[in-house]
Amino acid sequence: MVHRVYNFNPGPATLPLDVLETAQSEFLDYRGTGMSIMESSHRSPEFDEINLAANSLLRELMGIPDGYQVLFLQGGASLQFAMVPMNFLQQGQFGDYVHTGTWSRKAIAEANIISRARVAGSSEEVKFTRIPGADEIEWDAGARYAHITSNNTIAGTQWHKFPDTGDVPLICDMSSDILARHIDVSQFGLIYAGAQKNLGPSGVTVVIIRDDLVEAGRDDIPTLMRYRTQAAKDSLFNTPNSFGIYFLRLYLDYVKKQGGLDAVQKLNHRKQELVYSAIDGSGGYYRGTVELGSRSWMNATIRMRDETLEKRFIAEAREQGLAGLKGHRSVGGIRVSMYNAMPLEGIQSLVGFMKEFMTNNG
Ligand code: PMP
Repeated sequence: MVHRVYNFNPGPATLPLDVLETAQSEFLDYRGTGMSIMESSHRSPEFDEINLAANSLLRELMGIPDGYQVLFLQGGASLQFAMVPMNFLQQGQFGDYVHTGTWSRKAIAEANIISRARVAGSSEEVKFTRIPGADEIEWDAGARYAHITSNNTIAGTQWHKFPDTGDVPLICDMSSDILARHIDVSQFGLIYAGAQKNLGPSGVTVVIIRDDLVEAGRDDIPTLMRYRTQAAKDSLFNTPNSFGIYFLRLYLDYVKKQGGLDAVQKLNHRKQELVYSAIDGSGGYYRGTVELGSRSWMNATIRMRDETLEKRFIAEAREQGLAGLKGHRSVGGIRVSMYNAMPLEGIQSLVGFMKEFMTNNG
């Protein structure tokens, strides 16, 4: 028997065992080709099928309407922080950003290298413990785009209702909650996400972009930085992360078999409910760091009365097969990452451990 733990890592993160086993069983001989998909040409019929299947599965699962392209890029969400302003800002133009933590800060910094980020709203004053309310955000109709981070992996906050930015295209970093719940893609001009939390392995970045924004992109920037380049070539302008796309396809197949987004959303709802009930029912022993209306379904951030106790919690949890619970170094404490592939049993086991630990260390 292979030894597996419940893996609460924030990303790269746990993957469905089924998917890992399929990849393992096909690893040496991909479906009768006599070679691994890692050894196959990205121009082969086998890979072509994978690339198109991954694309259409994501469209089907997320309900992506016509008029949008799905791209599989490299460089992570971090490259998107730069590609967005590179494509859409000329000197003197600006993008509107809502500042909700570490990741928006990085996105803002990149826009300021290319031209200018205007901060339309921020929760920095309250240490990013909530998403700014609609009345705290001032959008500027002159912005070329508006940018938000749907789930703040480190701060543990999530947008539960997306803002209406009128005619200004809404761009969203969805790295840590893509495919975790139903969303209306038509509210967005562009969505990007590194795959390594909710979709598959690291090294693939999904970009969902409306056709008019593909067209609006600058063409006086390096070829590979233009959305237009990969959009015109089904993401095969150059050698893609073929193994990553292959794995993504297996993951999406699996999600479909589980019942698609309906099933995923239901499971994710149940999981976060269990975790936050355990926190709220602990009489202050475990403290959620985020305001109620902004709590993330994906990353629950917890503090305890002192750091020694938090360290003991993390170490003892690890001994019980509950791994990856350490909070991000910038905020400390405990972080429970419960992406799509975290089974309900993992959360039940964690919640049981939380109760037991509290009894033993009251
Ligand atoms: N945005 C968010 C919300 C993230 O959680 C992360 C990674 N944790 C990033 C961006 C950066 O992603 P990458 O490492 O793929 O560049």
